[in-house]
Amino acid sequence: MAYDDNNVFAKILRGEIPCDKVYENEHAIAFKDINPQTPVHVLVVPKGRYVSSDDFAADASDAEIAGFFRAVGTVARQLGVVADGYRILANHGRDAHQEVPHFHVHIFAGQNLGRMIKPIDK
Ligand code: AMP
Repeated sequence: MAYDDNNVFAKILRGEIPCDKVYENEHAIAFKDINPQTPVHVLVVPKGRYVSSDDFAADASDAEIAGFFRAVGTVARQLGVVADGYRILANHGRDAHQEVPHFHVHIFAGQNLGRMIKPIDK
């Protein structure tokens, strides 16, 4: 899948639409999800043009991958959710219901998150 420069996170990265930013480093930014699913719901987004975890893992440089995942850890610590716990999640493609075609990791926290996912076909 080709990268779409008109996706909403590309517009946020270009500063064309606002976001509630909580962190930024050379390779990533983090901002609050506009439709939070948990009391704490933050998205960590690499600055590079990657559609999902698939091309990010395959094509991003070591520096981009390190910068991105260090940002995830830093944001979680900054949010104060390490002690009680948090969940990171990344959707890729149709079956995962990925909505925004720019790679991002969700950080969910602030409540008991239950155990993993609830399978609907069992
Ligand atoms: P996903 O299904 O993993 O692609 O999730 C996309 C997420 O982006 C959803 O949780 C949306 O609520 C969130 N989202 C969409 N537009 C914005 C926006 N402008 N600012 C912050 N979060 C957004």
